Amino acid sequence: MTKPIARIDLHTHSTRSDGRGSPEQVMREAAGAGLDVVALTDHDTTSGWAEAAATCAELGLEFVPGIEVTSRALIDRGDGSIEKFSVHMLAYYVDPLNADLVATLEASVGSRVQRLREIVERLAADYDLEWGHVEEVLAGGKTAGRPAVADAMINRGIIADRAEFFDFVKPGSKYYVPNRGVPTPEAAIRLIRGAGGVPIIAHPMARGRGPLPGQPMPTAHFESLIEAGLGGFEAFHRDVAPHVSEWLQKLAFEHDLVLTGSSDYHGTGKPNLLGENLTAPAMFERLKAQAGR
Ligand code: AMP
Ligand code: ZN
Ligand code: FE
Ligand code: FE
Repeated sequence: MTKPIARIDLHTHSTRSDGRGSPEQVMREAAGAGLDVVALTDHDTTSGWAEAAATCAELGLEFVPGIEVTSRALIDRGDGSIEKFSVHMLAYYVDPLNADLVATLEASVGSRVQRLREIVERLAADYDLEWGHVEEVLAGGKTAGRPAVADAMINRGIIADRAEFFDFVKPGSKYYVPNRGVPTPEAAIRLIRGAGGVPIIAHPMARGRGPLPGQPMPTAHFESLIEAGLGGFEAFHRDVAPHVSEWLQKLAFEHDLVLTGSSDYHGTGKPNLLGENLTAPAMFERLKAQAGR
């Protein structure tokens, strides 16, 4: 009998950021879902790694240490306006003690808290909500993010689920405040390479943020990231449209980049299921080689 192909999922979240299961729980669920290799990629933190690695060792899973680093792109449109959008950069196998990395993550997390306070202030004008309610959700040192505000509003019976929250607290809405205290994608890429890790763009142009089918793709933006040392793209993710994924696959082939596929599991916080998208073993080997593993 031939050996079954390894099932590799390189993007999951735990209670150390906005997932709903502890690192141990997520790894146990990963084993239950038949995964062989699993990464924990909490937002802007490495605090779940030790617990997840210990559980994986016990269960015989291969653990991949990761972070989903929030960055913000500022693109000069050339007509006097600047386009701003957030880019999530997955960082695999970084040295968690690297001083530049630690300083950047600390600054990002601090700025996340400030930003969340501003969002809550705006929501408090219309809803029975205060910062203390969000602090309760964040207890235990979670990375602050909008899902914490959503959960505080769910706890108070104001909304039913996170999806409802994101329908009205999104860019363009009166409650939305961006996180300005984060690196640019290029700076994040250099930071991750400097810490010995591999930078992969999470869900590129997800949720309709990219061009429609037939429209030109933002080639210059991606070439600037490749120039900075980008390792590859998470081309297989439920929020990446098929025509965008195809374009990314071609670009990756031209530039010899790595392509990954993952679930972006958040427990009950999102419909995404462990193993719903997978990374090819050959791609995983290339990713590891870049990190010297
Ligand atoms: P933030 O870090 O504050 O920008 O919040 C972004 C996080 O919210 C990401 O981790 C997403 O997974 C999560 N998110 C975005 N949209 C939704 C949604 N519709 N339902 C649940 N979670 C979401
Ligand atoms: Zn998340
Ligand atoms: Fe993300
Ligand atoms: Fe994510």
